[in-house]
Amino acid sequence: MINGKTEFLGLLGNPVKHSVSPVMQNAALKEMNLNWCYIALPCRSEDLESVLKSLRTLNFHGLNVTIPHKNIITNLCTELTPLAKRLGAVNTLLPNTNQGWTGGNTDVEGFLAPLKSKNYEWENRSAMVLGCGGSAKAVVTGLKELGIDKINVIGRDKDRLNIFINNLNQTLFDFPKKSKEVSIKGCLATDSELSKSFEKIDLFVNATPIGMTNEKTLIKTTDNIPLGKEIWQKLDSEAILYDLVYTPRPTEWLKLGKKQGYECIDGLEMLVQQGAASLKLWSDKQFIPIDIMRKAAKNALLD
Ligand code: NAP
Repeated sequence: MINGKTEFLGLLGNPVKHSVSPVMQNAALKEMNLNWCYIALPCRSEDLESVLKSLRTLNFHGLNVTIPHKNIITNLCTELTPLAKRLGAVNTLLPNTNQGWTGGNTDVEGFLAPLKSKNYEWENRSAMVLGCGGSAKAVVTGLKELGIDKINVIGRDKDRLNIFINNLNQTLFDFPKKSKEVSIKGCLATDSELSKSFEKIDLFVNATPIGMTNEKTLIKTTDNIPLGKEIWQKLDSEAILYDLVYTPRPTEWLKLGKKQGYECIDGLEMLVQQGAASLKLWSDKQFIPIDIMRKAAKNALLD
């Protein structure tokens, strides 16, 4: 029940209509008995600065940030956590004492949660990441944190791929520690040698929207298997496929992967875990009802 004492949390993005975060977060807030309410706030890029100021004045307790503001918002925060600074991307904002916002990032934690829950030795493994956009940054950072030795990023545009690789090799060179030499390399999706390197991959992550139900038309995109069907016969059968996409569940790619006997992870758990990590920061509570959040998100996705 919203009353005079209700405090607010919000999601800033454009669009935000299809986000399941409000349902997921409000289910957790109810369970935690907090008189808080989480709302979706559509915001154009040109309004971002003034909206942020207003929400701070209105004493919003915390914010999530999504497409297309995750990078640009770093310039509007008065403080950044070391991880957000390294990534150059923020998905969680906390009000700070100097009337501004501290920008943090829980995407890496969210991405890693399903991988860390496996009884698996990650050191000296190799991974491939398709895509070099915003979430791929969090993915590569997470893979470095896991201790993965060889990280290959596949992009479709040479210049964007080079910028991405150079940036991350600079910002992550001493992450998580300086001693370990990890190579982050780039490869174009059109490279004729690409399929050969598939034989040695332990983990493959799709960090592109390929296979995602199109938000505007609510139909599936036509090229809905990353890199086409054939290439997936070349992977080691022990490999894990991890799709950040969670609409539909499972994606066509994970359906194919499952049929071929690969272990598959979809994007729902990342969504739930990054949300839970944000709520932990805002509420400063040790216990976050993750099961309730997962159930609420799953139900919202069925609608
Ligand atoms: P983004 O910043 O727009 O980056 C998308 C990347 O995918 C870019 O590198 C883009 O290449 C590439 N790409 C797009 N379409 C492609 C195609 N047809 N073929 C090859 N590459 C293509 O988006 P993002 O924020 O990284 O998000 C990517 C996906 O992850 C989205 O579906 C998003 O919903 C999902 N995601 C899920 C979670 C979660 O919690 N599960 C969190 C974050 C994101 P160009 O640079 O050449 O355009």
